[in-house]
Amino acid sequence: MSDLTDLGIAQIRDGFQAGDFTAREVAEAFNANVATAKSLNAFIVETPEHALAAADAADQEREAGAVRPLSGVPLGIKDLFCTEGVQTTAASHILEGFVPTYESTVTERLFVAGAGMLGKLNMDQFAMGSSNETSHFGNVISPWRRNDGGNAPLAPGGSSGGSSAAVSARLAPGATGTDTGGSIRQPAAFTGISGIKPTYGRCSRWGVVSFASSLDQAGAMARDVRDCTIMLEAMAGFDPKDATSLDLPVPEWEAGLSSDLRGKTIGIPKEYRVDNMPREIDALWERGIQLVKDAGANVIEVSLPHTKYALPTYYIIAPAEASSNLARYDGVRYGLRDLPDGANLQDMYAATRADGFGAEVKRRILIGTYVLSAGFYDAYFTKAQKVRALIARDFALAFEKCDLLLTPTAPSSAFALGEKSDDPLAMYLNDVFTVPSSLAGLPAMSVPGGLDQAGLPLGLQVIGRPLDEQGVLNACLAIEERAGFTARPGEWW
Ligand code: GLN
Repeated sequence: MSDLTDLGIAQIRDGFQAGDFTAREVAEAFNANVATAKSLNAFIVETPEHALAAADAADQEREAGAVRPLSGVPLGIKDLFCTEGVQTTAASHILEGFVPTYESTVTERLFVAGAGMLGKLNMDQFAMGSSNETSHFGNVISPWRRNDGGNAPLAPGGSSGGSSAAVSARLAPGATGTDTGGSIRQPAAFTGISGIKPTYGRCSRWGVVSFASSLDQAGAMARDVRDCTIMLEAMAGFDPKDATSLDLPVPEWEAGLSSDLRGKTIGIPKEYRVDNMPREIDALWERGIQLVKDAGANVIEVSLPHTKYALPTYYIIAPAEASSNLARYDGVRYGLRDLPDGANLQDMYAATRADGFGAEVKRRILIGTYVLSAGFYDAYFTKAQKVRALIARDFALAFEKCDLLLTPTAPSSAFALGEKSDDPLAMYLNDVFTVPSSLAGLPAMSVPGGLDQAGLPLGLQVIGRPLDEQGVLNACLAIEERAGFTARPGEWW
């Protein structure tokens, strides 16, 4: 075996079970890659000892003839997931030094399935952002570079930018992500990997630092569709500790994988042809349409008339929920406490929150408290909730005519770090294709579709009916098999 870090999750699992290598060899190989890629800033905390301990347990179990579904597979964990005994910060200063005494349900499930943890991955602070630039621990740098002489460091996408960078740079075969308005799919698209956000309620939110509770959903990021499927199967499932968790069995998605789309109708939402869409994105979309047709699907145009309201609706609802969720960081219970001399309780709250939250987080708290304030509640928050229902209804009506929807994942390839950071609206526009399905709670996945002229990856998004992760995975598999995407970043780091 030349380099174990070239293997994906399925290959590691199968090779480990076949006795081709030990789990310790795999963990050591990924730990070594993590150690040499510090310039990417993908990890906030590295936990090589955790990966090795899980690997040693897996090796012993294999000796005893008992392996688990993810035995031998080390993973990166987004720093939004609480991990027992390991600092969890949501990339914020206010949580610096917070070491949970409990494990999130999703990470618990992954570890019970045999996976190890390579470390906690950098991200946008409290998952607010599309470029990973809002992290208190510095931005992640995408492993990708333009091939046209433009040498500016690129954004790995966000908020799961540490996850996307780590997977595409071969620092981890897979990573957890969370997606509130696109934070799994957009970073996956920017870095040439796959990422799935399941139906809202499939993965427990228990122990995941809350951003916008009615939207937050955990999911899997990995090199290909099968690897995402394997991870998601281990992550998903009912959890009585999360009141919004779906009490449904987890289907055997991997066993159900099929790239035959005969009998499926795929809708192309005409409102997603937004103004000023780069020609390359249009061309990618056309290519995607051809690929699903080649796989046997029938393709039709559909209409999602309220699409244009999705971004403003999201940027009211998400900050509103965030402002409420983030009220808990008061300097008393978690992480940071700033107690100026002679300060009273109010001063302590103010000093801690002023110092602990970054600019984007403060912006969201301000917007959120404004739209929830007595004078503006009905004008903004109630109105946004109504529009959200209309957006969800658009999808329900479209799914009477088709089984799945196909769109680009993002309106551009990766942009340069700093390019949009002074202009929040330009940053928010990057979420135009991912936010509507989040508002509707639908499963959606990004899969690499090709490269742009600068050699940067572009992603295609498949959106499905509630609970139809299988349909989404299968359409993405069909695209993956036909797109033949094999590009990977050159190892400059
Ligand atoms: N980019 C979006 C935002 O900033 C989505 C973030 C997410 O999905 N966590 O809110």
